[in-house]
Amino acid sequence: MPPINVLIKPASGNCNMRCDYCFYYDTMSKREQPSYGFMTIETLEAVMCKVLAYAEGSCTVAFQGGEPTLCGLEFFEKSIEFQKRYNVNHVRIQNALQTNGYNLDQKWADFFVENDFLIGISLDGGPKVHDCYRKNTKKEGTFLQIMKNIEMFQKAGVKFNILSVVNGKTAPAIRKTYEFYRKNHLDYLQFIACLDPLGENPGTREYSLIPEAYGTFLIELFNLWYEDLKLGKQPYIRHFENYIAILLGQAPESCDMRGICGKQYVVEADGSVYPCDFYVIDSFRLGNFHEDSVRQIDQARDQMGFMEKSLQKEAACSDCRYLALCRGGCTRTRQEDHHQYFCRSYQMFFDACLPKMLEIAEKISR
Ligand code: SF4
Ligand code: SF4
Repeated sequence: MPPINVLIKPASGNCNMRCDYCFYYDTMSKREQPSYGFMTIETLEAVMCKVLAYAEGSCTVAFQGGEPTLCGLEFFEKSIEFQKRYNVNHVRIQNALQTNGYNLDQKWADFFVENDFLIGISLDGGPKVHDCYRKNTKKEGTFLQIMKNIEMFQKAGVKFNILSVVNGKTAPAIRKTYEFYRKNHLDYLQFIACLDPLGENPGTREYSLIPEAYGTFLIELFNLWYEDLKLGKQPYIRHFENYIAILLGQAPESCDMRGICGKQYVVEADGSVYPCDFYVIDSFRLGNFHEDSVRQIDQARDQMGFMEKSLQKEAACSDCRYLALCRGGCTRTRQEDHHQYFCRSYQMFFDACLPKMLEIAEKISR
């Protein structure tokens, strides 16, 4: 039995913020039952028990939302208790939690440090770009509150990285954002492309990220990072580290760079399981941890052909000189004819930056 990664959504899509581009609000609106409320302790116990009975070697338990901390600290204390009780195969457990960082206090920070959680905090940059779309329920900006909590995390020694959504407004501001992150010692960064609603023609929303803008963003960010890398003081940027890993013959950690969808277990608040965070909709439901084992869920994924379908790429990919590195990108941003919406962005980026990436890889391997 292999290691296993579960991503639990204990608060379903419930959130104390109202970001304009939230993909999970869109996902929920496409389900018969939009919200599954809050996960009960019984469901949490069923998930931990089944997952840990299956796991071997290691197990990652990631919590995401909506906003998972709305479940309260006791919920996560229970989770640790169950992990101790049901870890029958003595696997190494890594806990992770993605938060909007809006409503946290010292107790959360202490808990995260004590239990070695890796935290992801959503921040889109400095006040102007962050507050553009990341608002509270009164439609006010959230930047100041989140920065206050980030400083509290830094003082407490919480392990965290910053997750920034690249959208139509943040992409052109990347130079300022990068400088802001450097100045504030935010050294572990992850940038993810903003998604248009599922099934909608991309590029029509105010926040939409169009391929050319994304390509320019990647080049600018890479060049900033490269200058710092030459001085030996570059931040960790997941996207670029993954490309270098591929060039060194290693497997990228990010599933959208592997060329095939990952084997994931995304668990909604009622215990239902789905194959990917982007497909938590009724037609993709694989089962429920109250009734089904990990094996039965795997069988349902196989029957659906979820991973196999992600191998279907457009004809242009097979002739593309960047295929070995690009691998066709995330399935969620491929269109009906399998065309990768961000293909143009990737080509712009590889045209401009591949020589420097090869140079870095060569230096590392030497
Ligand atoms: S759709 Fe994208 S994010 Fe989801 S599993 Fe596939 S590659 Fe990963
Ligand atoms: S750059 Fe475009 S054509 Fe080339 S592999 Fe990536 S998605 Fe396919």
